[in-house]
Amino acid sequence: MTLSPDRLDRFARHIVLPEVGGAGQARLVESHVVLVGMGGIGSPALQYLAGAGIGRLTLIDDDAVEASNLQRQTIYTTADIGKAKAEAAADWVRRFDPALDVTAHVARIGRDNAAALIAGADVVLDGCDNFATRLAVSDACVASGIPLTTAALGRFQGQVANFAGHREGHACYRCFVGDAFDAEDCDTCADQGVLGAMVGMVGAFGAMAAMRVLLEGVATLGDPQWGQLHVLDGLKPGLRSMKIAHDPECRGCNGSAR
Ligand SMILES: [Zn+2]
Repeated sequence: MTLSPDRLDRFARHIVLPEVGGAGQARLVESHVVLVGMGGIGSPALQYLAGAGIGRLTLIDDDAVEASNLQRQTIYTTADIGKAKAEAAADWVRRFDPALDVTAHVARIGRDNAAALIAGADVVLDGCDNFATRLAVSDACVASGIPLTTAALGRFQGQVANFAGHREGHACYRCFVGDAFDAEDCDTCADQGVLGAMVGMVGAFGAMAAMRVLLEGVATLGDPQWGQLHVLDGLKPGLRSMKIAHDPECRGCNGSAR
C-alpha cells in the first residue's frame, strides 16, 4: 500500500524509526484492532493506536461515562457524562483522525457474542475490568485464531502480555489464570481506588504490545514476546517479566478449540 503525502507526513516519526519503517507503518494502517473495554486502559490505548494510524478500530463497551471516570479515562470530557463510552470514544476517534474507520458496539461482550464482535481483527486488546469477560474474550480469540493483548491493573501493579493460544504449544490467557474466575465479576476500582497516571502507563504499554503483534514479520518491533507477562510496579517503579507456560490441560487452547 502507498501512503499519501499528508499521511506520510503525519506518520513521519514512525517511518523514520528503523524498528517500524515504511513497511511497518503501512502494516499499521492496514490493521484492524478490536478494543474490549473503553475505560482506564482502553482510553489511553485507543489514543496511541489511533495516533499510530491503525486503519480500523472496533470499540466495545456497554458502560456510560460517569464523572468519577474522568480522573483517568482521558478521552472523555465533562460533556460526555451520561453518553455510552463506545460511542463517545468513537466520536473522539472521528475528531482526532477522520481517515480512520471506527465502529462502536454498545454491548457487553460475553460467550454468546464474542466471536461475532471480534471477527476480522488482527489483534484484540482486552482492557476490561473482570475475569469472566477476559476469559470469554480469550477463548473466542483462540477459537477464531486471533492474537490477544491483555492489559490489566490492580492498584499499583500493571500486567501486560501477548497471547497466541491459537498456535500449537503457545499459552493462552486461560493457561495463565485458570478456570476459577469464570463466574467472577469484580470491578475493584470503585472499592480500592486507582491512580489515573498508573492506568495511563498500562494502557500505553498495552498499545505498544498490540503494535508488536501487528508488526510481526514486517518490522523489527514486531516481536510479540508471546506468553511473556510483563509486570509493572508503579510504586517502586520497576518492571519484571515472566514466561507463562502452556498448560496441556487448559480447556481454552486444547482439544476442540484448536
Ligand atoms: Zn490455554
